[in-house]
Formats: sequence, structure tokens, C-alpha cells
Amino acid sequence: MTLPLIRKPPAARGAEPQLRDYAAARAAFSWADARRELAGLPGGGVNIAYEALDRHVIAGRGIARALRWIGKDDTVRDFSYADLAAATSRFANVLASLGVKRGERVFSLLGRQPALYAAALGTLKAGCVFSPLFSAFGPEPVLARLTIGAGSVLVTTAVLYARKVAPIRDQLKSLKHVILVGGADDRSPTDARDFDRALAAVPPEFAPVVTAPEDMALLHFTSGTTGKPKGAIHVRDAVLAHRVTGRYALDLRPGDVFWCTADPGWVTGMSYGIIAPLVLGATLLVDEAEFDAERWYRLLARERVTVWYTAPTAIRMLMKIGVDPVAHADLTRLRFMASVGEPLNAEAVVWSAQTFGRPFHDNWWQTETGGIMIANFAALDVKPGSVGVPLPGIEAGIVARRNGRIEPIAAPMAMGELALRPGWPSMFRGYLGETERYERCSADGWYLTGDLAMRDGDGYYWFVGRADEVIKSAGHLIGPFEVESALMEHRAVAEVGVIGKPDPTAGETVKAFVALKAGFTPSDALRKDLLGHARVKLGLALAPREIDFRENLPKTRSGKIMRRLLKARELGLPEGDLSTLESDE
Ligand code: ATP
Ligand code: MG
Repeated sequence: MTLPLIRKPPAARGAEPQLRDYAAARAAFSWADARRELAGLPGGGVNIAYEALDRHVIAGRGIARALRWIGKDDTVRDFSYADLAAATSRFANVLASLGVKRGERVFSLLGRQPALYAAALGTLKAGCVFSPLFSAFGPEPVLARLTIGAGSVLVTTAVLYARKVAPIRDQLKSLKHVILVGGADDRSPTDARDFDRALAAVPPEFAPVVTAPEDMALLHFTSGTTGKPKGAIHVRDAVLAHRVTGRYALDLRPGDVFWCTADPGWVTGMSYGIIAPLVLGATLLVDEAEFDAERWYRLLARERVTVWYTAPTAIRMLMKIGVDPVAHADLTRLRFMASVGEPLNAEAVVWSAQTFGRPFHDNWWQTETGGIMIANFAALDVKPGSVGVPLPGIEAGIVARRNGRIEPIAAPMAMGELALRPGWPSMFRGYLGETERYERCSADGWYLTGDLAMRDGDGYYWFVGRADEVIKSAGHLIGPFEVESALMEHRAVAEVGVIGKPDPTAGETVKAFVALKAGFTPSDALRKDLLGHARVKLGLALAPREIDFRENLPKTRSGKIMRRLLKARELGLPEGDLSTLESDE
């Protein structure tokens, strides 16, 4: 918070931001007006695949590139909007030929390969519900999610099927059809369909099903950072929020080369890795390979990426290896960089501004909100460490729950729960099969996010921590993020997770787990140095009492630090549901 404001020139590098005047846009915005941007279907229908693909083809933009796919071996495959429109029509025809009805659930368990994109949008075109699973899940997480979602179709590969689905197949009561990308092998079910052959056998035309705005479209499972993953229901109308937020918060426009590094197995990889950029006429860059700093810098330069959306884990890894990207590659095309998913330490924002000549723009949202809610915008100054300001059309607040009532807190920098006024189209409509849990997070006209935050006098929001991760120590409420951020400023620290450790006198004391950068080794002297650094930065009340060194910190499959696991391990407690960590890889 003490770090300098990053001031923006009036127009960043010759490109006027999509949202030039935040205050004016916010004052003028209404979802009803924004709705006019959708092409729509007769009778008020909304089909996400139509908005993402067919609409562009009908408008004569079919030859524009929709997707550039880069294989692990650097193979490049390009797909135009017309190509994807045809492939998704074929997939919709395949579903129809199998007798799959509107509203049925189609799951994917695929790596980032072109078929995943055709299946996702083809499913939506056919009026079915799409639920993507992260391909590194083991059999148990696959079983849990397919069961909650009552999946009737699964699109996967023979290898993934044999390893992750075959062991649980007899428990998958609702699963009727398996479609295999890349063909079957001798471990595949005999009735499995071959993806390419099935698509080739049906016509490339399909009239998008006229789905209603409130029809279920997507089922997204949360990351499972704090407990068992929940299945959030999203409706067709969410596409309006994807469009608006992609334009405002990510500054997307036609012709952009957009790289969202999130896997489509998570909500970011679907809302912004597929839907928003296509709806807005951009080109998706998809890399099949996993994180590799050199490769990433090479791709950013070679593919002339203009907008890059990634996550703090990756940013911290880039910081850790300490390569100068600009000396390494020509990144002059890069116009806008954003981050989401975890707190982005101020340190990382300042590093990016110094290293790339422009900062990462942190933004905040969650699976439940379906789209970006609070963001650092291209046109606004960035306060490093802040998640930014609410999007036009989004009313946020800091609130306290008191005796079942919700009281907004107006005082600047007072800590409370981050809450949102429902009414934006991508707000989830429930947790599938968990009505009570859904009801617990709304009260007095607010949706309660479960995150703690503060708002400063300029209206910028500051993430404090998850409500159940906040530390209560000797009468102080301490957000792990603030302590972690202070430690991140130390030159030896690559990653840090902070927990509250029960203590008979203080209630809890602050304990930090630190992973060091290359070139540093754990020692008592370094521990003392870190404790000293933290005391100077934070003061005695907030500084950690203990610091342990770890080679790596436990993370969810989507790469978030799992503080609850650090705590469970520290206290010797049961580790709870680890389904998000399980993998047989
Ligand atoms: P689960 O709900 O299953 O415990 P999860 O909350 O990690 O998992 P997601 O919906 O993927 O599942 O993540 C949303 C959460 O991630 C937010 O509620 C917040 O705690 C955190 N988060 C997202 N973006 C940011 C950000 N920019 N800064 C700080 N925290 C963030
Ligand atoms: Mg959550």
C-alpha cells in the first residue's frame, strides 16, 4: 500500500482504451442498454455459440482468425470464425444424432486441444449444458463432478479415459455417450464414438437452438481452495456480462491476439479463454504446453500477443527466474496485461511495470460471479496491491453481518466482507444440488462473497483474505495477504503462505511458510533476517512469530496456494477433501 501509484498516460501507446472515462461509463451504464450489443435470436433467445461465432460469419467476418492453436511440439493450427462455426455445428449435429436433448449435460475431460473448443461451443449451440473438467484430475474428482452434474456425454481421449474414467465407469449412472478425440484404443469402451469420424459424418450446418436467457448453459466447479468444490450454475444470458467485462476490464477489441493462460477446465478459461474474446471478435491464442518461462516469452513475441491474461502463480514464477523479457523478446505489441485468481502482491505489479514497461492489472472475481467484477482498468491509474474498482453495472460494498442483518461499512479502509448487489447476467443461479449453501450467501439484497476486503477513499478495493482465513491475534484482525505481500518484498522470497496458529494467550499467532528464490538456502540467519524485515514492514502485531521454509507450497490444481492445507499439516489435523489436488499424473 505504501508503493507508488502507477500513473497512466491519457492514451496508452496510441490505443485509446475501450473504457476511456470510467466515471462517465459507470454513470451511463445499464444492462438493458448493453443488451443491444447482443445479436440475439428470435423471441428474445440467447445462444452463446451464436454470439461467439455465427454472428461474425453472418456479418462477413468468417475469414478472420478465431483460434491459433500451438501444440506442445510447436505445431501451429489456425481456425477461422467460419471454421469454428462449422465445427461447432457438426458437434451439435452429432449430439442431435445421439438423441442428446436440450439441457442435457456434456462434460469434457481434455487437454487444451482444438476439439475442446469445438465441443464447448458446439454443446452450447445445441442447447445443452457444458461442464469442462481439468484434464489433470484423477478418477475421484472426475467421479464427484460427473455425478453432481449428471453428465450424459463425456468428450475425452482414449488415454484419459483409460486412466481416469475406466476405474469409475460403473459408478457413472447418468453417462450415456463417450466421444473420444484421437480415436479409441483397446482399453476404450466398445460403444465409444470417434470424435473426428462422428463430426465428418454430419453436416456443417446447424441452426443454433433458441435457448432462453435463463436456461442453464455452463456448470463450473470452484477451485476447491477452501473445501469441497461446488458446482456453480450459469445461464445463457451470462454472455452479455462476458462481452461487457471483456471489453471494459480486458480492453478486448476485434483483431486482438488474446492469450488467456487459464485452462478451460476453470471458469477463467471458459469465460475469458473462449467466450468473451470470440464474442468480441478477437483471436484466441491457445498453448497446449504447460508453463515454461522461456516458451511464454517466445510466444508473446512471435504471436504478437496484444492482450495477456494470466495468474499470480505464473507471474511469481516469471519473477523467480529473473529473465529480462524485454531483452529476450520483442514485446512491443503487448498492450494490456491482467491477472486474476489469487492476490497479486504489490511487489509483482511494480516488478511488471519496471520489467515490461506496463503493469499487470489485477482483477477480482470468482466462479460464482461468472465474470470480472472489480478491475484495474487500462485508463485508470493503478494502485499496486489493489484489485481496482467495480465494473460499470456492478455495485459492490464492504459489509458486516450483524445478527442476520447486513450493514454496509462506509468508512475508508475499514475491513469487512466484500458483497455485491445481484443483477448482472453472469451471477450464478445456484450451487447444483446445494440449495442451502446458495441461500447462506445472500442476505438483505446482497450476495456475500466470502472474501474480506477494504475500500479506500478513492473507491479502490483492497483484498484482505478469505473470511475463513483471516487471523485473529491479540485483538487484531490480520489478513494473510498483507503479511504475505510484505514478505514478498524480501529479495530471497519466491512464494509465501501465511496462516493463524492457535495460541493460548493471543488466540492465534501468525506463521509464515516461505519458498525461496533460486540461489538462496534456508538458514537461521535468513529466518532472522526475514522476521526482522517483516517487523519493520508490518510492526510487531502483524509480523509473523514463526517462519518455516518449504521447497514448494501446496496448491490447488489451478495453482492457488492452499492455506487450509498448510494449517491442517501444521496442526496435524485431517486434511479434508483433497480432491482438487488428486491426480494420477
Ligand atoms: P473454493 O470456493 O472451492 O474454495 P476458490 O474460491 O479458490 O475455491 P474460485 O472461484 O476459482 O474458487 O476463486 C475465487 C476466489 O479466488 C475469490 O473468492 C478470491 O478469494 C480469490 N481471488 C480471485 N481473484 C483474486 C484477486 N485478484 N485477488 C485476491 N483474491 C482473488
Ligand atoms: Mg470460492
